[in-house]
Amino acid sequence: MKHFSAKIITWYRQNKRDLPWRNTKDAYLIWLSEIILQQTRVDQGMAYYLKFAKEFPTIKHLAKADNDTVMKLWQGLGYYSRARNLHATAKILQNDFKGKFPDSYADILTLKGVGEYTAAAIASFAFDKPHAVVDGNVFRVLSRVFGIETPIDSSIGKKEFYTLANELIDKKMPGMHNQAIMEFGALQCKPVNPDCSVCCLNSNCYAFAKKVVQELPIKEKKTKVRNRYFNYIVFKYKGTTAIRKRVEKDIWINLHDFPLIETTKELTEEKLLASPEWKKMIGKTKYSIGSISSTYKHILSHQKIFARFIIVNSEQPLRSFLPEEIIIIKEMDIHKYAVPRLVDLFLEKEI
Ligand code: SF4
Repeated sequence: MKHFSAKIITWYRQNKRDLPWRNTKDAYLIWLSEIILQQTRVDQGMAYYLKFAKEFPTIKHLAKADNDTVMKLWQGLGYYSRARNLHATAKILQNDFKGKFPDSYADILTLKGVGEYTAAAIASFAFDKPHAVVDGNVFRVLSRVFGIETPIDSSIGKKEFYTLANELIDKKMPGMHNQAIMEFGALQCKPVNPDCSVCCLNSNCYAFAKKVVQELPIKEKKTKVRNRYFNYIVFKYKGTTAIRKRVEKDIWINLHDFPLIETTKELTEEKLLASPEWKKMIGKTKYSIGSISSTYKHILSHQKIFARFIIVNSEQPLRSFLPEEIIIIKEMDIHKYAVPRLVDLFLEKEI
């Protein structure tokens, strides 16, 4: 289509949201915003971006921070590997790149946690390099406007969309073009029920003409979701409780939660208390059950977590029967630790 870029840039100038990371050419701050916005909505990510930019205004500040401070600041945003990569990369930038953000697409792509989309975003927004971004918004706009039915999650589809996106990019204003097409996808060509009657591309849009807006883009595979059942044991003894740092290769690495018994299905209270895992955890300790919470449902991209919190009042000091990797703390100190959003919700509501 002729003038595709000019049309969306004109639309963008009139409709764009005023977002803080759009008012800077500082590659570090743009990178920060891009990592925060992976898997996160703009309205949720905004407060985190502002907190991080204030606490760590430069690569050096972030590189020098300790890991627990970074994780605590990230708390509630989910997908915690992003925070770990962000911190590790800041250290590499500080030590190997003399604290300067690389300006070539190829170098940016070597950074941990940075894929093709993020590298193109940083290279174009900060350095005006002509690399097209292709995210969910771009897939949607291109598939609808140009009538592309190749699945966006197939390797052939990805190639086709990347080629087209790079042909369409405005070489003189690649940063603006990329911002414009993403914003257009987010605000105008929305996933569900876009208002095509007011769209500046409607006279050239395949999906609008053929009435297939809701059918595009096409996806090949459905994501498989695994159900997991978490039984958290919240031990209490004279103002102390027990937590652990999650170190195994699983969700929420380096965050803290309570001792956990995971089961493959929801167990009744009787079955849980009679299970070998429960006996192993409690040993011969005398205890009483304080309460059992209702089930908290927490949805991640590939997992659904169903969690219950079981308050166990122990008659013995917790250190006397819990294994070494469990940390005994004062109950009131729990707020000093970075915990998953699920645990935070429980603490807010019930503790
Ligand atoms: S006409 Fe509708 S489907 Fe086509 S680009 Fe505009 S909003 Fe999207």
